[in-house]
Amino acid sequence: MRLKARAKINWTLDIVGQRADGYHLMDMLMQPVTLSDDITLEKADQVTLTTGGTPLLPADERHLAYRAALALKAHTGYPGGAAIHVKKHIPVGAGMGGGSADAAGVLIGLNRLWALNLSLSELEAIGLTLGADVPFCLRGGLTRTTGIGECMENLPCGRCWPLVVVQPCEGLSTKEIFTAYHEGVVDARPDNAAAALALAQGDASALSDAMANVMQPVSEQRRSGIAEAIAALNARGAFAAQMTGSGSAVFGAFTSTDAAKAAFEAAQRLWERTYLCESCMESVVFDNEP
Ligand code: ATP
Repeated sequence: MRLKARAKINWTLDIVGQRADGYHLMDMLMQPVTLSDDITLEKADQVTLTTGGTPLLPADERHLAYRAALALKAHTGYPGGAAIHVKKHIPVGAGMGGGSADAAGVLIGLNRLWALNLSLSELEAIGLTLGADVPFCLRGGLTRTTGIGECMENLPCGRCWPLVVVQPCEGLSTKEIFTAYHEGVVDARPDNAAAALALAQGDASALSDAMANVMQPVSEQRRSGIAEAIAALNARGAFAAQMTGSGSAVFGAFTSTDAAKAAFEAAQRLWERTYLCESCMESVVFDNEP
């Protein structure tokens, strides 16, 4: 069984509070993008993992795909295993939810391969124990996510947007950026309702006005490349350019594929980790399916 586990972007990211246990309360609009990791799953006696692609991640219990398989096996008592191979394309420590995407791909894939018939909400509950973005990566769609990542509302999407994604520097630790975040650094907050309406109507100008990511200033202080890449994407015609998640990747959104391609070619000359993709609705896609 082969499938693609897709990355996500944050059209918006707001932090609206903090729980007693320290977790931040979010309010954000997220959507899958066509940049993806390739996952292969085959039935086997044990759960095993091999890795490929770039960067090459250690194939052990630190890898979220492996942890997802073990969590599913523990939850269901399934007696067998699977040989898992993950070929990495999504940049790591990028705020694109690459680890969460792999976990979601393995949960959905093994649910089918092992004929477990768990519902999406059961998979989401297992996914939340692996990471706050895993429930979103299981569900996909244009989604307004609140709480720590577990409250999701699917929203109408008027169109998909061509995107150029750049990771202009080393990855950032999500934990480090959340710990460093404080209200004082925020220079702009998103208008989530206005952004949702703009995405439903396919209105680039209104979307640009409503977007913001409150974590961007914290990450920009640590990596100067973030502001540089945003400026470059704006200069190349993006109607909006912003950091995704806690960084370190940024994306530019374009009204036409031709404009995105031209910006991609220019950005590729400056940054090795540059990707051309588009926003989409499905987060996990099986190969050989229409
Ligand atoms: P998010 O947007 O969900 O905060 P991110 O994109 O910033 O995530 P990831 O790339 O998903 O971050 O993961 C960051 C850390 O998780 C890295 O230290 C990496 O080694 C570890 N990790 C474990 N499994 C994976 C995986 N399958 N893919 C990517 N990173 C993984």
